Amino acid sequence: SNPERVFNFSAGPATMPESVLREIQDEMLCYPGAGASIMEISHRDKLFVDVLHDAESTIRELLNVSDDYSVMFMQGGASLQFSAIPANLLRGSGKRAQYALTGSWGKKAIKEAKKEGDVDVLFDAAESNYDHVPSASELVCPDDAAYLYYCSNETIQGVQFPTEPNCPDSVPLVSDASSDFLCRPLPIEKYGLLYACAQKNAGPAGVSVVIMRKDLLDRADPNIPGYLHFKNHHDNDSEWNTPPTFAIYVLGKVARWLRDDMGGLEKMESINREKSQHLYSTIDSSNGFYRGHAQPNCRSLMNVTFNLPSDELTAKFIAEAAEHKLAALKGHRSVGGIRASIYNAMPREGVNTLASFMNDFASKNS
Ligand code: PLP
Repeated sequence: SNPERVFNFSAGPATMPESVLREIQDEMLCYPGAGASIMEISHRDKLFVDVLHDAESTIRELLNVSDDYSVMFMQGGASLQFSAIPANLLRGSGKRAQYALTGSWGKKAIKEAKKEGDVDVLFDAAESNYDHVPSASELVCPDDAAYLYYCSNETIQGVQFPTEPNCPDSVPLVSDASSDFLCRPLPIEKYGLLYACAQKNAGPAGVSVVIMRKDLLDRADPNIPGYLHFKNHHDNDSEWNTPPTFAIYVLGKVARWLRDDMGGLEKMESINREKSQHLYSTIDSSNGFYRGHAQPNCRSLMNVTFNLPSDELTAKFIAEAAEHKLAALKGHRSVGGIRASIYNAMPREGVNTLASFMNDFASKNS
């Protein structure tokens, strides 16, 4: 490994599996058979179309996605989906969309949805600064809703739904899974639509994955902007326009790494539980020196958020952590403190190094 590489706890763009970076490096000048880099050939070239289909089929295999669902690759980040979803499923429907608000990204999604139609915020955890998810009785969705939307893992707060919220059969369940996509197996059949930008747990920035039940593709008013219309992407195999070819190529490699090297999503989930538990138990055994932000029943497997006794100690923590190659630990300003993002590609060694550093730091500074 390159000795300059740090343990990168960035929330996104985030750390990548080193073996994937090496494969990309090997193929950078000449993708096999192309006589050029993959980023230099046409998206219509069979070599690239095969890459795209391979990325799609590996994701289908990992998540066990049936033919009732379309898997699409889009640009515009997760943020474009804040608009695309209500443009397709709310605008002109005569119905109301229902949102569960558990953190910063849900708030942004609601702001965009309101431009497209009527929105109800069924649950809002603002009073506790977004440290929990709703209980079943706190989130009751009417059965004539356009859809029920939630963010499965709020990246900034480190709050994750342990399982899907209840949703009537008549209502499509919609999830922003940007920061926990591919961290665990999912019952895809419960969802109408699930989407994720790639740059946290699945690859580089520039591509988002949208998994959508096919019967929903026809709900949109055809007059919505062409790029926002999911049916255009589905009908054209994610090549309605030039897709982000390089990002799709890398996404496919990360998906193969998950399947072949990590052994699939059940194994990945148990590693993620082990890694996150190591940090949460370090927090819980610090005699109050570290205080976790999320309530224990919804602590994220991916983004571990906690506070220290003061801003001075937080700054000192970050500066001293850097000396141990522990990088990008500063929390988002709305929560403060520390955020350790430990996506699939964060090795156990990174988590172990952070946990030992936390123990040392607490004993020296409490
Ligand atoms: N949703 C979640 C849960 C996120 O963590 C992010 C990330 O930054 C976004 C949406 C926005 O993603 P993007 O910057 O790709 O639009």
